[in-house]
Amino acid sequence: MKKGELCAYCGKPASDWEHIFPKCLYPTSKSKSKIQRLTIPACNECNNGWSDDEAHFRNAMVLAGEPGGIANELWEAVQRSFKKSDGGRRVKDIISQLKPVEGNKCKIYPGRDERVIRVVKKVIRGLSHNYKIMTAVPESLVWVDILNYQIQKNFLDEMTHDHREEDIAKYDYQVLNDYKNDIYSAWIITFLCRVSFIGIVSFSESMKSNFARGCPSVGNLQLNVPDGR
Ligand SMILES: [Zn+2]
Repeated sequence: MKKGELCAYCGKPASDWEHIFPKCLYPTSKSKSKIQRLTIPACNECNNGWSDDEAHFRNAMVLAGEPGGIANELWEAVQRSFKKSDGGRRVKDIISQLKPVEGNKCKIYPGRDERVIRVVKKVIRGLSHNYKIMTAVPESLVWVDILNYQIQKNFLDEMTHDHREEDIAKYDYQVLNDYKNDIYSAWIITFLCRVSFIGIVSFSESMKSNFARGCPSVGNLQLNVPDGR
């Protein structure tokens, strides 16, 4: 690490490199992947304490959808994590996120899981630095929810697409710099082809709460919110 590098998360002197997308999302079959995994400078404080939340995040993503594809490969890692000495706690973490749905089945709602949301916010903060949109974005400026809105096609068309292996993490983003509406960037990130999140970076508390309530039209970004939200 070069002297003078600053932490991408808080702006203090950096001491190490941190992966933007959790390393544990990549199974061994991807170890020779030509798509470079993104790393950014981070300080000790910001770098520490993520591995537990990231393992929980992976478990939630794998369990959130039907079996298949890359999730099958990661399933072995999930099972291994359940068999470790703290596996009981991990199983409990996941069970606490299960909500009954019709037909006596249970479903995971990652959007209600604070630790899952924090990991997605961290990814957006990291990408924001990586694309030189804004650095040292505090967690409090990022709003994230599971994507269950319909997003207008013309908005999607304007977004830039990128990925770190399409079947692991793909994303679209747009730098809005919409100072009137106080939105700086918008993000749509899909993990393991199954769970999509929408995120915005904004300084305005009221903007974030508008989004949280499902405000149907904000600046260029128009959302069609299903009834019942
Ligand atoms: Zn830091």
